Amino acid sequence: MLPTPLSKLPDIGGTIFTEMSALAQECHAINLGQGFPDYSPPEALIQAVSEAMFQGLNQYAPMAGLPQLRNAIASKLQSQHGHAYKAESDITVTAGATEALMCSLLALVHPGDEVLLIDPAYDLYEPAIRLAGGRAVRIPMHPPTEADPVFRMNWDRMLSALNPKTRMLVLNFPHNPTGVTLKSEDLDALESLIEKQPILLLSDEAYEHIVFDGCSQLSPVSRPALVEHTVLVSSFGKTFHATGWKVGYCCAPAHVMAEIRKVHQYTIFSVSTPMQAGIAAYLSRTDAFSGLSNFYQKKRDRLVSGLKKTRLQPMHSEGTFFLLVNMSALGQRLEKEMAVRLTREIGVASIPVSAFYAAPNRPESNHQLLRLCFAKQNSTLDLALERFSKL
Ligand code: PMP
Ligand code: GLN
Repeated sequence: MLPTPLSKLPDIGGTIFTEMSALAQECHAINLGQGFPDYSPPEALIQAVSEAMFQGLNQYAPMAGLPQLRNAIASKLQSQHGHAYKAESDITVTAGATEALMCSLLALVHPGDEVLLIDPAYDLYEPAIRLAGGRAVRIPMHPPTEADPVFRMNWDRMLSALNPKTRMLVLNFPHNPTGVTLKSEDLDALESLIEKQPILLLSDEAYEHIVFDGCSQLSPVSRPALVEHTVLVSSFGKTFHATGWKVGYCCAPAHVMAEIRKVHQYTIFSVSTPMQAGIAAYLSRTDAFSGLSNFYQKKRDRLVSGLKKTRLQPMHSEGTFFLLVNMSALGQRLEKEMAVRLTREIGVASIPVSAFYAAPNRPESNHQLLRLCFAKQNSTLDLALERFSKL
């Protein structure tokens, strides 16, 4: 007999990304579900990582990350947001954004704390909050309507959710799955929020370098009133077309970072040395970030113009490599049911947006929307469009 109850997360199963990728594989479908590119990282980057291995950089890296990579991250953030993070004390290299998020939540959320999430919310936040003993309080965005076909933040509701137990707000912009970005009015709203109650902001900026139509990433760390409250998390996975490398980073004021490092050092201790050395060497030689938005904007536009000829109506995406499509022309159904059906019958896998809500099967979590990943070769996108045109 094992001790009972065994599970700390009894209601949590596999992720929607795993489920839809497995279904895509089973059905030999095109996988526009889980977010990963079907092309390789830059050759020069692969070369830099292999050189690091041949140079003998194969043993443990320092716990917080190789200094040359932390310095490269510091100077990138300085030019992006005008804030000077100290490589020594404020930056930690992590095993993807995932580990950075988990360590931040475990380190900073105390039992009984409330953490505000913006719905739809990326899947890991709530289980991580619960493992820390906290409670997720989910604040839905205004869903798109015919008159106003975009997701919009509900700052009034956010403000009224604040109470003495509120400890943190998790932000994720550019937003997965909606593609919404933060505007300067949103940063104003965040400043008012912090003024009312000095909570922490956990800012998941995994898609920071994929922002469209000439806009640039607006991060809370660009505002002096917010930076002291913010833990910035990002990932090299999206930026380098290398989601499987699992290298990311986390930045925060030194006394906050000291707490996050206590969890990081006992979760993983340190991240793969040759990956870090290779990425640092590559960043010292190349402007790795500036072309990315343009690269993805062309893919977004290709998918949007193709979809306009089908019965799936594209919404607007301001950033990330995701696009939402409205499926209501195909009849009212739960999004998950439609995603499964399109995978089986049309041969294209997607992600139901309802999976990003606490109760995926409830009507208020279903807005007839599917998420498509356009980090795919043009030929893959064209083939998916050809299949959608048969609907
Ligand atoms: N946050 C968001 C919003 C994501 O979409 C993802 C995954 N794509 C992650 C975090 C995790 O990133 P990583 O693969 O670097 O762990
Ligand atoms: N972040 C990726 C997405 O949104 C999935 C990562 C994962 O499979 N956990 O598709």
